[in-house]
Amino acid sequence: MPPKKSKKNAIAVPSFERAINSKMRFGAHVGMAGGVYNAVTNAITLGCNTFALFLKSPRRWESPPITDEDAKTFKDLCEKYKYNPRTDILPHGSYFINMANPDDEKWKKSFDCLLDDLKRCEKLNIGLYNFHPGSTLGLADTKDTAKDENAGVRRLADGLNTAIKETNFVRIVVENMAGHGNYVCGNLDDFNLLFTLLDDPKRVGVCIDTCHSFAAGYDLSNENGWNKFWTEFEEKVGIENLASLHVNDSMAPLGANRDLHQKLGQGFLTLECFRLLANDKRLEGIPLILETPIEGKEETSYGEEIKLLEWLVGRKKDDPEFIAKSEELQKLGLKIREEQASKFEKKKTTKRKAEEKAESKKTDISSMFKKAKRVKKEEDE
Ligand SMILES: [Zn+2]
Ligand SMILES: [Zn+2]
Repeated sequence: MPPKKSKKNAIAVPSFERAINSKMRFGAHVGMAGGVYNAVTNAITLGCNTFALFLKSPRRWESPPITDEDAKTFKDLCEKYKYNPRTDILPHGSYFINMANPDDEKWKKSFDCLLDDLKRCEKLNIGLYNFHPGSTLGLADTKDTAKDENAGVRRLADGLNTAIKETNFVRIVVENMAGHGNYVCGNLDDFNLLFTLLDDPKRVGVCIDTCHSFAAGYDLSNENGWNKFWTEFEEKVGIENLASLHVNDSMAPLGANRDLHQKLGQGFLTLECFRLLANDKRLEGIPLILETPIEGKEETSYGEEIKLLEWLVGRKKDDPEFIAKSEELQKLGLKIREEQASKFEKKKTTKRKAEEKAESKKTDISSMFKKAKRVKKEEDE
């Protein structure tokens, strides 16, 4: 049974045993209803070796501060359940934060929210903090007179540089995006630029979300694509800047730019992606966090997926048990994959038609001009 969430010092009875000696540190995003410290007992119940949580309501600008008493309970529970808050916990920032916003006033509001989150981390002695970098909203930057396609990344870097000066130790972890709309950091080139703009790059890290990467066009569903991605990561970002992974399958196909998480093995990434992940030595020791859709009870859903990830460690591609498990999970996700694939095809067709129309308009106009010129010439003659 999971612990009662509203009671302080609730005794957690682990439903899933924590693989405390595992080099691969799998965990999940856990709830904090009733108090931030409840996340710790929720994490141990699920067998998490690492976990994510919100530090305040992610859909509100302001929340009451964390009291000294709650912070103490949080730290005590971390000690009791052997979570090192400097390395094992990766809070997720508010969704409102947009550090690429070209509007100065709105950017400042985001910055204040980010700084508040970071201060909450330090109050809880948490050493890592993850957030979505934001979007330029397709608007021109109010600061830059010249058109600068990297204005969003520059604004983000400005915010990070200032936030680092105003905090003491927390490492700010920027997550990669699905390459949708005008979001920054949908590709590794944005991260490459970002790190060149930082005053203290050691205080910043990268979180790679497997679903977002796939949606942005990086094919992590097979060994070739997996290795290609990490080679590019080493070249453009550097493995020392990798702070964590979000471990999610994808409901939508490769390059669809859709941020749609799926349960492991049921999406287009397939269980093979997570087998490669579970056996990649470069990922040892960093938080590897599930954000997959919860099926049934949170307490069992994430607990089972953590056990699945641990089961994949050391597993070979041709292992009959692995093959059977992959097929079983693919069957479960078939309907959603088919729906999403047809949506993506329709979107591509609509886009192509719009492009063709624009192209033919262009030719129409240019032939009109030619005709007008011809008529003019005839008249002159
Ligand atoms: Zn994520
Ligand atoms: Zn996502």
